[in-house]
Amino acid sequence: MSKRIDIDLLDSGGDSVYVSERKVYPRDVSGRFDRLRKLAVFWLLGMYYLFPWLNWDGRQAVLFDLPARKFHVFGLTFWPQDFSLLALLLMILAFTLFFTTALAGRLWCGYACPQTVWTECFLWMERWTEGDRAKRMKLDAGPWNREKILRKGGKHLLWLLFALWTGFTFVGFFTPIASLGARLLPFDWNGWELFWVLFYSLATWGNAGILREQVCKYMCPYARFQSAMFDRDTLIIAYDPMRGEPRGPRKKGLASVLERARGLLDVRTAYDYVFRASKHPSAAASRLQAAGTVMLDGTDAAPLPKFQTEELGDCIDCTMCVQVCPVGIDIRNGLQYECIACGACIDACDDVMDKMGMPHGLIRYTTQHALDGNSGRVLRPRIFVYGFLLTALVGAWTWGVFNRSPLIADVLRDRNALYQQQGDRTANGYTLKLVNKTDADRSYRVRIESADAASLVLKDAPLDVRVPAGEVVSQAVEVGAPATLRGRHALVFVIEADDGSAKARVDSTFFGPM
Ligand code: SF4
Ligand code: SF4
Repeated sequence: MSKRIDIDLLDSGGDSVYVSERKVYPRDVSGRFDRLRKLAVFWLLGMYYLFPWLNWDGRQAVLFDLPARKFHVFGLTFWPQDFSLLALLLMILAFTLFFTTALAGRLWCGYACPQTVWTECFLWMERWTEGDRAKRMKLDAGPWNREKILRKGGKHLLWLLFALWTGFTFVGFFTPIASLGARLLPFDWNGWELFWVLFYSLATWGNAGILREQVCKYMCPYARFQSAMFDRDTLIIAYDPMRGEPRGPRKKGLASVLERARGLLDVRTAYDYVFRASKHPSAAASRLQAAGTVMLDGTDAAPLPKFQTEELGDCIDCTMCVQVCPVGIDIRNGLQYECIACGACIDACDDVMDKMGMPHGLIRYTTQHALDGNSGRVLRPRIFVYGFLLTALVGAWTWGVFNRSPLIADVLRDRNALYQQQGDRTANGYTLKLVNKTDADRSYRVRIESADAASLVLKDAPLDVRVPAGEVVSQAVEVGAPATLRGRHALVFVIEADDGSAKARVDSTFFGPM
């Protein structure tokens, strides 16, 4: 008979690092910032879905032709040799991000990030099929019935079609989109085209439909390092606790603290109320389970006392700002890294203030200095440094793009032999590589210049090389000299377009017997 062994079960105490994410059901909101975000969505996604279909000079306006190693962008063609311009462009994008973040906070996250704009579209489709916040929560909590299957099925069908269109457009930036579309029926895509359409569709569906705010919270590196660009003069979206606290419901009719004797609280008292409210949330706030990086976690705090109506601040604790938040945080707890600065809580709170007959701005764009009543300045040294570097980089890039030579020339010496003895002559072999970056065929005349011009002679001079538009041509050339010419001699290959539109000089060397 097996012997029973007594064991002690250890309770982990609930400290697992794997916590399942609470689903966020953002409520629909309308207002100034919502209109701005919709405008950004239409503008940015409009460019994304439209650009590959535009034509410029008889070619797709934006086409990253990887097999031909050429990027076509509205009449400009970038070659691998223009890599320095691409590097400069990436630096410009990085400094634009630094500059706008230091000046105006997370503008990029709230209005322009692909994750934000696609999530916004997926949310619209979710609302069309499942309804607004309360209906979606009820639907999720309810059993699987005909209505739930139809609504969820409809949502995923819309998401799938939109995601596939997104993936198709993405591939259309790398392969001519008209041909990609024409080869859909009958299906004639190659393996890579199919893979990238499906991969990008899946990524869009997963990121914008399922993961949403988790991408910003856990996957996006920018959300993590941007705090390095923040200071107390950076524009943030913040709740004004001096005006709003102590929060609490009341009947309509009580004027704003800005218009009655109570006035604004002092900073210390206001933040004490915020802290205690975050530790002992109201029943309404508890139901919402607003998450986020609540400050001073783990510290004990006494609950707030019951305040007389006259003592209350302007926040009526309606939790609308939490219900509309796409990342599910309570902005009243202070600046949190999860906040993507979308402005939805401003719109929601302004709407509530309108209904209560109070002025807008309980939640607003401000700086931490301004909020705390300290003097601050927008134009700080870092703004000037970022601004100067950005201007210099944009200037250099613009100059570089419009002053690129339409001809690239390279000369490679024959690697097999330093020189060849041909009777009373010595010959050196070279390979001339010419890249015609223009959209027209060109003829180039090749000659050499040297201090030993009397001795060094280009074979078959004057040499004309024809290079088709946008092509690379390799041409073998030979330079000869009398056998009496010894040692190393510098020479320059001069290549000129026959219409004088381009000229290149390439340094090289001639070797005779040592
Ligand atoms: S929406 Fe405004 S009034 Fe309502 S809880 Fe938020 S801050 Fe307070
Ligand atoms: S707290 Fe939420 S709703 Fe308000 S700006 Fe931040 S992310 Fe948007």
